Amino acid sequence: MAAAIKKVGVIGAGQMGNGIAHVVALGGFDVILNDVSADRLKSAMATINGNLSRQIAKKLITEDARKAALARITATEKLDGLADCDLVIETAVEKEETKRKIFHELCAALKPEAIVASNTSSISITRLAASTDRPERFIGIHFMNPVPVMELVELIRGIATDDATFETSKAFVSKLGKQIAVSEDFPAFIVNRILLPMINEAIYTLYEGVGNVEAIDMAMKLGAHHPMGPLELADFIGLDTCLSIMQVLHEGLADSKYRPCPLLVKYVEAGWLGRKTSRGFYDYRGDKPVPTR
Ligand code: NAD
Repeated sequence: MAAAIKKVGVIGAGQMGNGIAHVVALGGFDVILNDVSADRLKSAMATINGNLSRQIAKKLITEDARKAALARITATEKLDGLADCDLVIETAVEKEETKRKIFHELCAALKPEAIVASNTSSISITRLAASTDRPERFIGIHFMNPVPVMELVELIRGIATDDATFETSKAFVSKLGKQIAVSEDFPAFIVNRILLPMINEAIYTLYEGVGNVEAIDMAMKLGAHHPMGPLELADFIGLDTCLSIMQVLHEGLADSKYRPCPLLVKYVEAGWLGRKTSRGFYDYRGDKPVPTR
């Protein structure tokens, strides 16, 4: 029988963690939000408040729903504060070592029947599961960014994930109002497996001088009806993140077609990581973005 989820732990209060805490609290679940940084927790709460207010302005939710959601979220710097959660979603930095350490410490405190999930974009769910005391109750729940806006969640079973864990996770994600795409546990899953090679190809198109930044983005917006151009989108995702996903595809599938474009490597080496550093394929330091090539 699938266990009922009432209390949900979220580990990591960054970009994804605050979005996940937001939608989970709005879905009626109690949330314990954890981070090693008190500052991150503070700014996550402020971001959640701001994003809920934005949803009120758009008439998507009521003021009462905002208040109730905020009241359901508790922030803590201590992992053992998550001990009685029914489900814990890990969404800390994309470093396998860090995630393993978190799972080790978490599982020692967490009740044995609880489900543990990771929001990893690229690390093998089977391998992460094997580092815990409960591989059968471990699953990938991969949200898209920005979490309150995007409709999709990918669910990824590790080799040992049992049916009850899968069914409980499915029911939980549906309660958040999200659609589910089930992916096998292969590098980068479905969305990033398709999206990142397209972005990488757009960067090769720039690198080889087929078109400049403006032409490439306009071509895909007007010629393929994409809401954002691929280079604009790369800046939004973060060029370091784009590079690390390409590296995971390249190494994990051992196929040269996933070779990260040298120009992408160069931008990352320059620290031009896109919007978050105010410079990438566009320069965001002025009133409006200006192409850097
Ligand atoms: P981020 O850098 O914004 O946030 C990571 C947070 O983890 C930080 O607040 C950091 O303080 C915290 N952290 C680090 N070590 C910790 C520890 N030991 N315990 C608790 N917290 C710790 O990163 P993000 O963009 O939110 O990504 C988080 C995860 O979500 C990654 O695994 C990433 O692959 C995945 N993901 C990201 C996206 C995206 O578009 N950014 C989309 C889907 C999934």
